[in-house]
Amino acid sequence: MSETYTTIIGLEVHVQLGTQSKLFCGCSTKFGAEPNTQTCPVCIGLPGSLPVMNREAFQLALKTAAALDCEIPSHTKWDRKQYYYPDLPKGYQISQFDLPMSANGFLEISDPKSRFEPKRVRIRRAHLEEDAGKSLHDEVAGKADSLIDLNRTGTPLLEIVTEPDLKSSLEAKTFLNDLKLLLMYIGVSDCNMQEGSLRVDANVNLHINGIATPIVEIKNMNSFRAVERALDYEAQRQFTVWQETGKKLGDVPKQTRGWDDAAGITRGQRSKEESSDYRYFPDPDLIPVAVAAGEWKNVQASLGELPAKLRHRLESDFTLSAYDAEVLVNQGQPLVEYFFEAAKAGGSAKLAANWVSQVVLRTLNEKPDFSIETFPISSGTLGRMIEFIQSGKIPSSRAPDVFAKLVESGSNDVDVTLVSLGIERVDESELIELCEKLLAANPKTIADVRAGKTQAIGALIGQAKKQNPNIDPARVREISLQLIDKMAD
Ligand SMILES: [Zn+2]
Repeated sequence: MSETYTTIIGLEVHVQLGTQSKLFCGCSTKFGAEPNTQTCPVCIGLPGSLPVMNREAFQLALKTAAALDCEIPSHTKWDRKQYYYPDLPKGYQISQFDLPMSANGFLEISDPKSRFEPKRVRIRRAHLEEDAGKSLHDEVAGKADSLIDLNRTGTPLLEIVTEPDLKSSLEAKTFLNDLKLLLMYIGVSDCNMQEGSLRVDANVNLHINGIATPIVEIKNMNSFRAVERALDYEAQRQFTVWQETGKKLGDVPKQTRGWDDAAGITRGQRSKEESSDYRYFPDPDLIPVAVAAGEWKNVQASLGELPAKLRHRLESDFTLSAYDAEVLVNQGQPLVEYFFEAAKAGGSAKLAANWVSQVVLRTLNEKPDFSIETFPISSGTLGRMIEFIQSGKIPSSRAPDVFAKLVESGSNDVDVTLVSLGIERVDESELIELCEKLLAANPKTIADVRAGKTQAIGALIGQAKKQNPNIDPARVREISLQLIDKMAD
């Protein structure tokens, strides 16, 4: 009998909070400056310097805790985590150990394609800490040097730790996408993975016949795709190790492995440290932080509508499919607002969703100078255009022309645009007359259709369009077939 296994995954996400200055000093956090130009005695740990907490960083952390439905203690404190790194000049990192600023939250995830059951992923804790600097190796050609850039040292990080509730790489990727979207909606981070604003480590092991394999922590994953690949690789690797050495599993220590994206494998780095190795102790230079009940309530009230609720509203109030709601919400608040306004104009919400999620988005992708906030077609204008399409004032075949003209001209007057494009409603009687004329001139088409080749009608549609670009091709097809049917009687 072949054995099956369950993959158990927990994630640790480090999010750089979007403050102007660092967590315990006034140095800038701007990305990309000349190395070592954004430092001061506090963040490089000179003797006698004293840290002062950045209130804004704490506020952003509170906002995130509220969005993740965490509980917060009445007060929280700072601890020193001792370890030596060349890019950590103090020899310790200020973090939070046994009294994190928030804990016991959750984030609900679901898959619009229903590949897994919707689930609640528990958040064990979210705590604040300062970032380390960066070591750069072999940057200068021909010199095997290592360089240190301390600009990042002391930047505020929120570490979000989940319970091991995720059961597949897809669930893990979905959680990360949803978390990122949530963080962007509440405006606490730009979540730019290339610039290191969002970093992910994953803990993974297997449950096989009631036995748990040792936990492996995977590091160095630079994209959500990398997380997905690394988890799939690691699960398979652990299963192979189990098959080969199953009985000895109890002796294998916890391990940290690095993901090598080019090779598509994880490599062993070191055995995983226990928290006792870090010799945590309360930082004597920083006082505990208390959060008043009223302040916490204010933060909770300030969150606005979060992605999950928005998706739900789009599905229930606007009858969009789960997929359409997901596409819109994933683009961020401004686009959702734009859709709401366009849908309010009275046309069908489904049609508005199609236009926004397909045509408007495509235009935004094609023209990098445009943003939804400065889009040449206002949401109201798009709504009016959709209403006209529905009422037949704009034939659907000509709607793309109207849209393109509105974008190009920057005019928000749909009526004027229709005139300038020569678009006018074609009456039913006009259409019938046109079809009759075309059929009379094309006896071969009639014969073909009677012989069962209905696609022969295509030739008529082409001719009809030439005579009147405003005709609706689908109607020409319908009417012509009806007329041919009647002739047969
Ligand atoms: Zn500084």
